Amino acid sequence: MTKIRVLDPDTVNQIAAGEVVERPASVVKELLENAIDAGSTSILVDVASDMAGITKIRVTDNGEGMTGEEAALAFTPHATSKIRDIADLCAVRTLGFRGEALASIAAVAEVTLVTRPRGGGALAGTRLVVRGGEIVEKNEVGAPEGTTIAVERLFYNTPARRKFLKSRNTELAHVYGAVENLALAHGEVAFRVVHNGKERVATQRSEGLLNTIAGLYGAELARSLVPVEGRLPFLRIGGYISRPSESRGSPSQISVSINGRSIASRQIAAAVREGYGTLLPKDRYPVAFIELSIDTGLVDVNVHPTKREVRLSREREITGAIAAAVEEALAGHDLAREAPAEP
Ligand code: ADP
Ligand code: MG
Repeated sequence: MTKIRVLDPDTVNQIAAGEVVERPASVVKELLENAIDAGSTSILVDVASDMAGITKIRVTDNGEGMTGEEAALAFTPHATSKIRDIADLCAVRTLGFRGEALASIAAVAEVTLVTRPRGGGALAGTRLVVRGGEIVEKNEVGAPEGTTIAVERLFYNTPARRKFLKSRNTELAHVYGAVENLALAHGEVAFRVVHNGKERVATQRSEGLLNTIAGLYGAELARSLVPVEGRLPFLRIGGYISRPSESRGSPSQISVSINGRSIASRQIAAAVREGYGTLLPKDRYPVAFIELSIDTGLVDVNVHPTKREVRLSREREITGAIAAAVEEALAGHDLAREAPAEP
């Protein structure tokens, strides 16, 4: 008899799920990332809630879909179509690669998947019900091309996690935030969010970030923004920033994407702020939408299970270039009549 034992797979999955699925918004983020990776051009997020909180999240995409065999495999931990080995990770272009999201979500919820591969190869689609990590139903159904995943009873078997959920409105705000972040990084996709039958967020498929910003935050804000541009041999900086007359009390409205991945980075937010210098009063921050394309070899995306953080090689050069690009963008604009408000 030894005191050490190898945990059974169900327990392992629940522990892993704890890292990936923190709240309903994490489910939305992971399902959206999968839909984007599947080449979708249109994605619908349908959320239902009652007084107690969010009861159902359903994401429908028109992406490449899955065969019945693939659908069953997709819920196996560490099953992915996106990388084969660690070398692939250095050049990964997809948002996913860990093969953990569906397994994690299914470990702590009840998931219904309906999918049919694009291109007419399969006559029928596949419907799967997965509960507590086990496939409990599998059948053929008529289905449009693409994938619909519905998640219900989130955290039904993890009461501790359920207790940490905030109010319904706070959780909904996180859900909308997750959609906004991905929409900003993926103008090639039209996103629509519906809550209890009412449309909450809608973006058109568009060529430009500015159109997406207008769709999410209104044409007035979009019109007031100043474009930013910058370049290094391994880096392209694009995006839009607010005029100094428009500012916020925290850096939370500085949104950053790197190679289509929405990320959180204090260093980059600080670089954007630095570019304003004394144009903003102390402790004020701009609204900014920064898009970075960086050689994939310089970006380590495998830092955190939720992939919200990345590690950058040559970070000092990158943040320096961002601050310089912001400064230049502001200098190029007639800001004379927009001196910062007296604090
Ligand atoms: P990852 O995205 O890291 O590969 P996931 O657990 O999120 O891992 O998904 C597992 C696999 O299931 C994916 O690699 C993909 O092949 C397939 N898959 C998941 N969602 C979709 C979808 N919406 N459309 C098509 N295939 C999907
Ligand atoms: Mg994924």
